[in-house]
Amino acid sequence: MIPYGRQDICQADIDAVVTVLKSDFLTQGPVLAQFEQAIAKYCNVDYAVATSNATASLHLACLALEVSKGDIVWTSPISFVASSNCALYCDASIDFVDVEFDTGLMCVNALKKKLIEAKLQNKLPKVIIPVHLAGQSCDMATIADLAKEFDFKIIEDASHAIGAKYQESAIGNCQYSDICVFSFHPVKIITTAEGGIATTNQPSLAKKIKLLSSHGITRSPEDMTEESHGSWYYQQIALGFNYRMSELHAALGLSQLNRLDEFVNQRNVVAKRYTEKLAKQPLTHLKQYDDRYSSYHLFIIQLDNSKQHAKVFEQLKQAGIGVNIHYIPIHLQPYYKNLGFEAGDFPNAEKYYQQSITLPLHPNLTIKEQDFIVSCLKNII
Ligand SMILES: *Cc1c(COP(=O)(O)O)cnc(C)c1O
Repeated sequence: MIPYGRQDICQADIDAVVTVLKSDFLTQGPVLAQFEQAIAKYCNVDYAVATSNATASLHLACLALEVSKGDIVWTSPISFVASSNCALYCDASIDFVDVEFDTGLMCVNALKKKLIEAKLQNKLPKVIIPVHLAGQSCDMATIADLAKEFDFKIIEDASHAIGAKYQESAIGNCQYSDICVFSFHPVKIITTAEGGIATTNQPSLAKKIKLLSSHGITRSPEDMTEESHGSWYYQQIALGFNYRMSELHAALGLSQLNRLDEFVNQRNVVAKRYTEKLAKQPLTHLKQYDDRYSSYHLFIIQLDNSKQHAKVFEQLKQAGIGVNIHYIPIHLQPYYKNLGFEAGDFPNAEKYYQQSITLPLHPNLTIKEQDFIVSCLKNII
C-alpha cells in the first residue's frame, strides 16, 4: 500500500535521538528549550511551548484564553475532531462555521453572517479556531478584523501548516492570532513521533501554557503565594496536566527542523505534478489562493460527480493506493449529533465530504508511484 502520508527519518535524526538516550535527561532536560527556541525563531514569533501532542496544545490554548463553562467556541466542521474537542474539554459549548466548498477552509462570509446573528442573540463566541486545511492558511487578515469588531480570540489550528506562508510570512508568527498550534504526528510535515507546540507573542499566554503543561507547578519564587521554604520548594498554583514533551521527542523535532523547508518544497513539487497530470480529468483539486504558500500536508481532489465518490475511493484502495478522506464533517459524528447537530447544518462541508479524496503525498513519494496513482485514477473515472 502506498501510504497517504509518511515520515522521513534520516541518520541525523536517529543520531540526535540516540545522543539523548545516552545523556542524563530523557525528559525535562535542555533539548526541549532548544527545540522551542528553534521553532520560535523559524516562525518569527516570541514564544513556543511544546507539549505531548497538538491535541494537548489546543486544550491548553483554550485554557490559557480562559475558555470555560458558559463560553462558546467556533471552529471548522472540516477538520480533525481535536479542533472542536478542545473546547468541550473546557466545558464550553461548540459550534461550527461552514467552509468554502472549493478550499475546505472556514468561509469568512459565513463567519461574518454568523457573527452578526450571534451578536443579536447575545451568543458571540469567545474563541474561534480556524483550521489551515491541507497546509493552506485561512484568510487570517479578515478573521483578525472580525475579531476586533466582535471581540473574540483566535487560535490557529495549524497542525497541517508548519512551513507554510500567509502573505509572505511564516504561519505561526501570530500576526493575526493569539495562539497558533502545530502537530508533529508522523503524517504531518515534520515529526516528533507524538508532539505539538503552541506559539504566541503574548508572554502571559506562553507562561500559562507552560505552567499547565506540567501540573500547574511553579518553581519561580515570583509566582508563589508565600516565601520559598528552601531550594526544594515548589508550588502548585493551578490545576495542570502532564502534557510535557520528552527530550527524545524534542531531539527528533530539532533534527527534523533542519529539513523542514526541503520537505515543504518537495511536497509542492509533488502537488504541482499531480495538478499537471490531472488537469484534463473530471475533477478539481483544492483551490489555492495567490497570497498563500501551502505546506501541502495533503493533496485533496474533488470529483465532479459525487455519485462516483465511494467507487473511486474503494477501487484506488484495492489497487494498493492509500487514499484517505479529510475529513468526515465533525458535526456528523455520533458524539456531536448527540449534542444536537444534524445533517444539513453545514451544507458546504457536507458537499465537500461527498466529493473529496486525499491522494498520497509525502516527500519520498516516487515519480513511479505517482504515475501509477494517476493512471489508476484516470482508468477508474
Ligand atoms: C493531527 C491534527 C490534530 C491533532 O494533532 P495530534 O498531534 O495528533 O494531537 C489536530 N488538528 C488537526 C487539524 C490535525 O490534523
